[in-house]
Amino acid sequence: MNYYSTNHSAPLATLQEAVVKGLAPDKGLYMPEKIAQLPQKFFDEIGSFGLTDIAKVVADSFFGEDIPKEKLDEIVSDTLNFEIPLVKVEEGIYVLELFHGPTFAFKDVGARFMARMLSYFVKEQQQDDVKVLVATSGDTGSAVANGFLGVDGIQVFVLYPSGKVSDIQEAQFTTLGQNIVALEIDGTFDDCQALVKSAFMDEELNLQMNLTSANSINVARFLPQSFYYFHAYAQLAKQNLADNVVISVPSGNLGNLTAGLFAKRIGLPVKHFIAANNRNDVFWEYLQSGKYSPRHSVQTIANAMDVGAPSNFDRILDLYNHSHENISKDISGYRYSDDEIKSAIKRIYKKSNYLLDPHGACAYLALKESRKANEAGVFLATAHPSKFKETVENCIGKPVEIPEGLRAFMKEKKQSYPLTNSFERFKKIIRNY
Ligand SMILES: *Cc1c(COP(=O)(O)O)cnc(C)c1O
Repeated sequence: MNYYSTNHSAPLATLQEAVVKGLAPDKGLYMPEKIAQLPQKFFDEIGSFGLTDIAKVVADSFFGEDIPKEKLDEIVSDTLNFEIPLVKVEEGIYVLELFHGPTFAFKDVGARFMARMLSYFVKEQQQDDVKVLVATSGDTGSAVANGFLGVDGIQVFVLYPSGKVSDIQEAQFTTLGQNIVALEIDGTFDDCQALVKSAFMDEELNLQMNLTSANSINVARFLPQSFYYFHAYAQLAKQNLADNVVISVPSGNLGNLTAGLFAKRIGLPVKHFIAANNRNDVFWEYLQSGKYSPRHSVQTIANAMDVGAPSNFDRILDLYNHSHENISKDISGYRYSDDEIKSAIKRIYKKSNYLLDPHGACAYLALKESRKANEAGVFLATAHPSKFKETVENCIGKPVEIPEGLRAFMKEKKQSYPLTNSFERFKKIIRNY
C-alpha cells in the first residue's frame, strides 16, 4: 500500500519508505492511501478474541500488503508481550491500563512495534543503516530507547528538555548505553522537536545518512496504537456492555487520538471520542472555534501532554477533509488545570481506591464531565502512577511504591550530552556518531 503526504506535494511512498523517512519531503505527514473496512463478522465475534489475535487482524488491514503474514504476526506478538487490562473504576466508567509494558507507559506499544518493523526492513529488505531521532517530553524517549535497544543497524538519539522530565523518565533513556545516545537540551520540548525537524530538512545530512523519526509522526508508531482501542471494545463486548462506547484520550501530540480515529474509520463502533488537554489547550480551542493557533507549550504536572503545536493535527484534518464540522461530530474537547487534575487524583483514590497518574486523571475528568447515562465510558491511563511519584504522593498524602521494573533503571549511571539549543552542534554530533 502507498502512503501520501498530508501536504500533497511529495511523491507517494511505500511503507518502507514512509517508515524510514518518517516525515515526507514536503514536510507533510504520511497517510495510508486506502483505509479498508474490517468485516462485520470480526466485530460480532470480537468479544471472544484476545489482545494479540485482535492486533494481528488490525495489523493485517494496515500492513498486510507489505509484510509477509508470518513476519507481521511475529512483530505483533513480540510487541505485545504484556497485558492491557480494562478495569472498572465506577459505574459506567472503565480505565484501559496501557502501562504494563517495559517502560510503564502506553508508548511501549508503538515504539516496540516500530523498532521491530524497522529492524525487519534493515535485516531482510536491504535497507541501509538508519539513525532514529526522537524528541521527548518524557515517555517517548524511554519507550523508543528501550524498544530499539540493541537492534543492529539502528542508532538512536533521544533529545529531551533538561530539567523538564521526571527523574524516573530520565533514567529510562540516559542509562542504557549501546546504540542509545541521550542529548540533554537546554530548552523546552518544542525546541527539541524543532531541532529534530531541522535535521530532517537539512539536505547535507540527509544525503549522508538515513534519518528517521520515532515520534508519532511515524506511521509505524502511531497506527499500531489502534490495536488497543479494539481490545478495549472487545473487553466491553465480552460483558455485553459495548453499546454507546465513548473513549477519552489524554492528548499531547494527538498520535494516540489519531490512532483511535483510524480504528473508528476501519469499523470500530465507537460513538464518540473525547480529547482531554491540560493547560496546553490548542486542540481544545480548535474544537471550540475552528481556529488553530499553535504556540509555545507551558509546563504542567501532566508533562507528556505539554505540547503547543501537536504534530498529528494535520493527520486529523486530512482524515476529515478539513471539515471542522465533521471533526467536532466525532471528537469533543475538554481542558483541565493542574489543580483540577490533582484533586481528581485525590478524589478517585478516596472514592474508588484507584490510583491514577496525572495524564490518566485528566482523561478521567473529561469522561466524567461529558458522559451520558447510557454510555459505556473508557478512558486511557497512559502511564503508571509511580512514574509521577512526587505529584501523586502529594495528592494522596501517602508513599507510592515503585515497581521493581522501574526501580532497576534508577540504579544505573546517567550518561547524557548537555547541548544548547543550537542546530549546528546537534548536527555535528549526529554526523560523528
Ligand atoms: C505521550 C503521552 C501522552 C500524549 O500522547 P499523544 O499521542 O502525544 O497525544 C499522554 N500521556 C502520556 C503518559 C504520554 O507519555
